[in-house]
Amino acid sequence: MNQKYKIIIVSAVVILLLLVYGFWQHRNPEPERISYNQFLHEVQKNNVVKVYLNQEETIQGILKDNRRFITDNPRKEGFKEELLKADVIVDEMKNQEMFNQAISYLILIGSIIVMFFLVSKKAPQVQSKKSKVGINIKPEEGVKVSFSDIAGNQEAVHSVKELIDFINNPEKYSNYGARMPRGVILYGPPGTGKTLLAKAIAGEAGVPFYAVSGSDFVQVYVGVGAARIRELFKRARQSEKCVIFIDEIDALGKKRDGGLDGGGNDERDQTLNALLAEMSGFNENQGIVVVAATNRLDTLDEALLRPGRFDRHIEIGLPDVKARLKILELHSKNKPIHEDVDLEKLAHQTVYFSGAQLENLMNEAAILAAKNGKGMIQQQDIDKAFYTVIAGYEKKDRSAISHIDRMITAYHESGHALVTKLVAPENRVSKVTIIPSTKGAGGFSMNIPPNRMYYKKKDMENNIKIMLAGRCAEEIIFGKDNITTGASNDLEKATEVLIDMVRRFGMTDSSGLLNYDVLYKNGIKQVQDNFIDEAKKCLDDLYANVKYLLEKNKKVLVTIAESLLVEETLDEEQLDQIIKNAA
Ligand code: ATP
Repeated sequence: MNQKYKIIIVSAVVILLLLVYGFWQHRNPEPERISYNQFLHEVQKNNVVKVYLNQEETIQGILKDNRRFITDNPRKEGFKEELLKADVIVDEMKNQEMFNQAISYLILIGSIIVMFFLVSKKAPQVQSKKSKVGINIKPEEGVKVSFSDIAGNQEAVHSVKELIDFINNPEKYSNYGARMPRGVILYGPPGTGKTLLAKAIAGEAGVPFYAVSGSDFVQVYVGVGAARIRELFKRARQSEKCVIFIDEIDALGKKRDGGLDGGGNDERDQTLNALLAEMSGFNENQGIVVVAATNRLDTLDEALLRPGRFDRHIEIGLPDVKARLKILELHSKNKPIHEDVDLEKLAHQTVYFSGAQLENLMNEAAILAAKNGKGMIQQQDIDKAFYTVIAGYEKKDRSAISHIDRMITAYHESGHALVTKLVAPENRVSKVTIIPSTKGAGGFSMNIPPNRMYYKKKDMENNIKIMLAGRCAEEIIFGKDNITTGASNDLEKATEVLIDMVRRFGMTDSSGLLNYDVLYKNGIKQVQDNFIDEAKKCLDDLYANVKYLLEKNKKVLVTIAESLLVEETLDEEQLDQIIKNAA
């Protein structure tokens, strides 16, 4: 029944009961106090119909005109007989009074119960209504999206594939005592297909998909967000197996700062705590996986990233040229594409486009073609759509990032990759790319050193050389006056490593074996000056060595950079091949 009607009916019943109570009180008003003499007088006049006797100090009775009275009890022997002789009905007071009082109490208690029912029914309704506001707790059943709807992002797809088996056969893992991930965080720039991937997990596993956004849980009123979280998980548990997707997790899971910015954080903290408690609370082998998405992994509270919570972090990056071609092909499948359309060329033109932007581009082209009624999407529709689409994006997102910027990135990253191969061939360079990601604003060269317990002085120096190689490549190719800000992160890291070498590890000649931190703690501060000179000299020497190496191998450097400008991403095999051929 509709909640409104329920309230109306219950209110009506309460009012009715109160009316009955009032009527009953009216029919049984308080008796009128009369003197004993007046009572005797009324008896003589035959005005008294009934008298209730009791052991109390007073007696009650009813007069002919139905008025009730109360008077003193003479408590004398033969009083009852006197009354009976005077034709007065005599009854025991107890029965009547108890009956009257019982009726009054019953009506009152009845009213209170009904009112309590009304109030208590209303409260949870209001509460659950609150938790429903603005939050879609209805799961999407029978999700149609599958891994085949995702182009590119193959590493990410590969990482989540085992989740499907986990959702479907949790016992298989629990039998081995394995704890499967409860939470996975997908992080990367907007529009790269994080939602799509989460949905595909649900689609492939054939389980319901609960999609909410972190901002749905951030409320002005303390406690509401937490209640919503509990509601979400309660619903999800009813589905047994499912995927819960929390988009924009940073809205509720930002690093806590101990409430420094006032009370505004109370609500977020409570909401985050509720999420953590719920995640720890569900049975890990039930087959529920929580997938969260964010553009900024580094802003998330550490508590969220601990084991047992969101302990898997999967990067979803911007697509490189091959992935862009695949995405364009995927979104062309259901469209009539004219044979003059060159998707490969388009893939090259759309550097830094996300999957969503590529999908949008194809959609715009389809709209233009439909408007013109040409029956097919032609190259000119795509060209027009391309400019419409990039005009709508912020400058930093534009594919029109200048050619010179791409060249700088390509040489910078080639420098890192080549020097890694030259000075630390045991390190793996699993990927070099000029596509920006959270790992590097321009591009990045992924350098994975082998796992070691101890690092030699030489390893640390080589590490610094690799870090300096980006800046050095820029200087060699573009000249000393054209070096860029692109090396700022590298210089920061290189300085950190070097400071450790001088200050903590006793690895430089003039610092000797002194630990600078201990000196500083003991008030010996004059060492600061030679410390900076020492560190600077070390860096200069290492840089000189990098410069020598890169100048000697300039031809290889140029070849890697040129390949990067075409391919955008090189894996280790391609890199090795290029170095081998160019050397
Ligand atoms: P946001 O961070 O803004 O929430 P997102 O990373 O979750 O974005 P989605 O919403 O999943 O991105 O992507 C939007 C649309 O872009 C998808 O529905 C799909 O059409 C298209 N898309 C994005 N990436 C891909 C991809 N790798 N393959 C195919 N289509 C993609």
